Amino acid sequence: MASGKIIIAIDGYSSTGKSTFAKLVAKGLGYIYADSGALYRAVTYFAYTNGFIDDRGNIDKENLQRVLPKVEITFRTNKKGDSQTFLNGANIEKYIRQSTVSSHVSPIAEIPFVRDFVNVMLRRMGQDKGLVMDGRDIGTAVFPNAEIKIFMTASEQVRAMRRFKELQAKGEKDTFESVLENLKKRDYIDSHREKDPLTKAKDAIELDNSSMSLEDEIEWLNTILLPNFNLKVELGQQEI
Ligand code: C5P
Repeated sequence: MASGKIIIAIDGYSSTGKSTFAKLVAKGLGYIYADSGALYRAVTYFAYTNGFIDDRGNIDKENLQRVLPKVEITFRTNKKGDSQTFLNGANIEKYIRQSTVSSHVSPIAEIPFVRDFVNVMLRRMGQDKGLVMDGRDIGTAVFPNAEIKIFMTASEQVRAMRRFKELQAKGEKDTFESVLENLKKRDYIDSHREKDPLTKAKDAIELDNSSMSLEDEIEWLNTILLPNFNLKVELGQQEI
């Protein structure tokens, strides 16, 4: 039986509940949680607010590539223990989840130099292991040697409803139809791009959580995958 810290890579389509699950797993193991999508969203927010994306969605790639190396994206944890995304020192967490960013993020994320820029930061986070990272290409491209790879799926309707409820709770005005539309578009672009498309790694284990609760998912992980590494997620007093 292996022991010591490992990397857990969690990939899958939009709104499959990857981040909620990944956060809980990280907390339960005392590991770091990293949301790779937040980095793509931060780059998109930067590009949008600085005029590198026009009203028709055209991206000024040449100039974006020129300035990107000077862009600083960091994560800090707030008093409630939630990770917050900072762009050049300013907290942008609230903005990167809004529909303006969601509707432009996949075209930004398919640009190879953007992926290279983000990957450098992601790989740095995995240097000491003890990491749970979620995204689209973590098990295939970022950490192909991750000890555990999970590919999460759920039906489109279930995923769109989850995302819609999340946005509603934040006071956003998006309709269910627009959320479903955005989800389908992002999934299509993410799975068809040339560099590191969203696909299940050969050695990833699929988890369809359409009719599973978070507790079910943790139990699945504790029973099927973690015993090989002598690890167990203890939910204890954690809020679910
Ligand atoms: O995970 P989240 O939905 O916040 O990610 C936003 C977008 O960032 C995805 O739709 C995808 O286009 C991009 N992304 C990616 N590779 C990752 C994580 C996210 O291309 N590893």
